[in-house]
Amino acid sequence: LNYKAAEDRYEKMQYRRCGKSGIELPLISLGLWHNFGDHDDFGNARNILRTAFDNGITHFDLANNYGPPYGSAESNFGEIFKEDFAHYRDELIISTKAGWDMWPGPYGNFGSRKYLIASLDQSLKRMGLDYVDIFYHHRPDPKTPLEETMGALDQIVRSGKALYVGVSQYNAEDTAKAAEILKAQGTPFLIHQPRYNMMDRWVEDGLLDTLEKVGIGSIVFSPLEQGILTSKYLKGIPEDSRAATEGSYLDKSQITPQLVEKIGALNDIAESRNQSLAQMAVAWLLKDDRVTSVLVGVSKVSQLEDNIAAIHNINFTEVELDKINSILK
Ligand code: NDP
Repeated sequence: LNYKAAEDRYEKMQYRRCGKSGIELPLISLGLWHNFGDHDDFGNARNILRTAFDNGITHFDLANNYGPPYGSAESNFGEIFKEDFAHYRDELIISTKAGWDMWPGPYGNFGSRKYLIASLDQSLKRMGLDYVDIFYHHRPDPKTPLEETMGALDQIVRSGKALYVGVSQYNAEDTAKAAEILKAQGTPFLIHQPRYNMMDRWVEDGLLDTLEKVGIGSIVFSPLEQGILTSKYLKGIPEDSRAATEGSYLDKSQITPQLVEKIGALNDIAESRNQSLAQMAVAWLLKDDRVTSVLVGVSKVSQLEDNIAAIHNINFTEVELDKINSILK
């Protein structure tokens, strides 16, 4: 056995119930969108996964197209899983998704039954798994009837390839419709995965209320606005940062002087709370218990450790919240 998990791992993390389900998720989960592709350092990827689990992070989030190239995050995860985590399979919640472009032609994108079922079969092969714990429809598809997409999710669960299902990026209205269909089918709808952070608060406008009403949990992505809500861009753009990386979804041009000024002001509030800005950004999300888990990405073990420590202070005073709001308004 290559890797033995830290024995005290479950003492280091806290867990929150996911909606009205039987599943609890760690307050912090790890996403493999970046930093696990074929262009990334395999040893670093492995250390990040080990550090996560050693700290009680039981949930790893993937998707068919994470890499680059597409599929490579799943293949690399599969390799690491086989060597390090196979033994711990029943302690892990592993998710994957389909919904964005994956292979050429009309059947490798969006939300058809054809695409979803074929894509999950490919994902399971790449990861070397018999099943995933959560399978998501990755984004709404305006052209495919919701009944077809939800029917595919149901078939996936009944065929034993996923235990629970979720949706990502669905608005409140479509989420409520999806929930109705899934309920009628008897499909276990566990979770929604929306984008949410201090700078992007669209979920507060109805989605979180809907999730609470329907009884499903949420795991929020890009909690650090891809790294903007950390201290890393306060003194320029570090060479090894996402903003400096060609072809990433964060462009240098987004780091404007006006933005840096705001980040600086947020950083002062974080300091007064004895937190890093990354920690305050994570804590800010966890203050609402409708957020089941905060889904971070990290390029370094040290970033993960930084983010995990956020769970020790997730309370905010009204004054702090007002200050944050006035900086970001
Ligand atoms: P974050 O907002 O957490 O950004 C992660 C990046 O921020 C890291 O790669 C790193 O960037 C930087 N960072 C993280 N922690 C620190 C720290 N403590 N100090 C300094 N910098 C830090 O999330 P992502 O945008 O990566 O999304 C997280 C996960 O959410 C994904 O992996 C994926 O699983 C999921 N996701 C889902 C989507 C969906 O449609 N459902 C869409 C997008 C993401 P750097 O490289 O600069 O070091």
